[in-house]
Amino acid sequence: MSARRRTLLKVIVLGDSGVGKTSLMNQYVHKKFSQQYKATIGADFVTKELQIDDKLVTLQIWDTAGQERFQSLGVAFYRGADCCVLVYDVNVMKSFDTLDNWHDEFIKQANPPDIKTFPFILLGNKIDIDGGNSRVVSEKKAKDWCSMKGNIPYFETSAKEDINVDAAFLCIAKAALENE
Ligand code: GDP
Ligand code: MG
Repeated sequence: MSARRRTLLKVIVLGDSGVGKTSLMNQYVHKKFSQQYKATIGADFVTKELQIDDKLVTLQIWDTAGQERFQSLGVAFYRGADCCVLVYDVNVMKSFDTLDNWHDEFIKQANPPDIKTFPFILLGNKIDIDGGNSRVVSEKKAKDWCSMKGNIPYFETSAKEDINVDAAFLCIAKAALENE
């Protein structure tokens, strides 16, 4: 067997505190969900190995450790990002309204070489809550925002029920790989 080089892809996850960023990562990487809210502690990132076509890829997924409240994420957090995942909670309007800020903040801090082609992905999380009856952001509204920002791919997810989590991260990995 030939030793194939692994490609390391850095993905950063942004969005308001409480939207489910850490839960989505835990569901994707560890297949676990916790109802308890605990501030993210410990490692700055988690990794997941996957194969895309004939390429072995290591996704390095960077999470915020609660600093998103104060918007004081350091330079190292953004440096060398290959893809930016924006997350909001479909049941919380404010988390959708602040997406513009997160998008701008990423561009400002990461300073990607080509803003127009840099891969962003939007996730509308917690679609499981109340069977969808408590959602305040429609799929159309979210998709309109994505078109406005240059056709950002959009997934509706539930970290709790494991809905669309693998699909979303596969899209993220592919987008990061294309950008690499
Ligand atoms: P973060 O601050 O963005 O990292 O958010 P967390 O991942 O810590 O999640 C905040 C709270 O929302 C926790 O209590 C989670 O259990 C809960 N949560 C996260 N994702 C979901 C989801 O998809 N559905 C439901 N019902 N709760 C979720
Ligand atoms: Mg968190």
